[in-house]
Amino acid sequence: MTKSLVVITGASSGIGAAMAQHFAAAGHPLLLVARRVEKLQALKLPNALCRQVDMTDAVAFQAAVKEAEAAHGPVDCLINNAGLMLLGQIDTQDPMEWQRMYDINVLALLNAMQAVLADMKIRNAGTIINVSSIAGKKSFPNHAAYVGTKFAVSAISENVREEVADSNVRIMSICPGAVETELLSHTTSQEIIEGYEDWKESMGGILAADDIARTAAFMYAQPQGVNIRDVVITATRQQ
Ligand code: NDP
Repeated sequence: MTKSLVVITGASSGIGAAMAQHFAAAGHPLLLVARRVEKLQALKLPNALCRQVDMTDAVAFQAAVKEAEAAHGPVDCLINNAGLMLLGQIDTQDPMEWQRMYDINVLALLNAMQAVLADMKIRNAGTIINVSSIAGKKSFPNHAAYVGTKFAVSAISENVREEVADSNVRIMSICPGAVETELLSHTTSQEIIEGYEDWKESMGGILAADDIARTAAFMYAQPQGVNIRDVVITATRQQ
């Protein structure tokens, strides 16, 4: 049976790259987007269209979706994974860092949902998986702006889920705890990075990107009439 098109944003590293591997192994044609297109291509996945898209550019994302749909039919699953975490204290952090996080974690996610939802509603089918975070459920030191973006992702997911439920479209959110990826490396304060590393070590290890990818693949693989709305997944020892 021909598998339907899955779009994964931020597939050039970490959780997105692991998801791309899982969905490719399940036989889905893929549209993979990120700024580092060479890292998308290096995954060497079969049937994967790799496009350089800065997700803050809604028009560029729409064009990539149109190109992929011309080859593989309508998008059946969008995974809104691209994101940025810049930790800092609210009294000293550069406000541009807040702007960058809200642009990619929140506004780009809304734009991407808009790019596929109208067609999903017409087809009465489709799934959007938004990657939120445990930081979309509770707070952590030095996370104020990031937590704000992820609470927004969780709230948006819940609201849109209600909006489109009548159209049989599934909106899901997945909220990982700490996962070993490049995410922390963009924070500018060395002191905060070191504190985070100590915290990770105190847990005796954190999740792997593959743990999240496996979970997302399971959520999507349920029948269209079954919506696993919201999953929180953490290392067992994480508080
Ligand atoms: P990575 O830093 O490894 O991956 C982030 C991905 O987002 C990269 O592929 C990056 O691609 C992409 N991205 C960032 N900005 C843009 C942009 N403007 N346009 C397009 N793509 C962009 O981190 P993770 O894999 O950990 O993060 C994935 C998601 O998981 C994020 O939403 C994050 O908030 C969430 N998360 C992560 C947790 C963790 O502990 N790691 C815990 C909970 C949630 P490129 O740079 O090539 O553009």
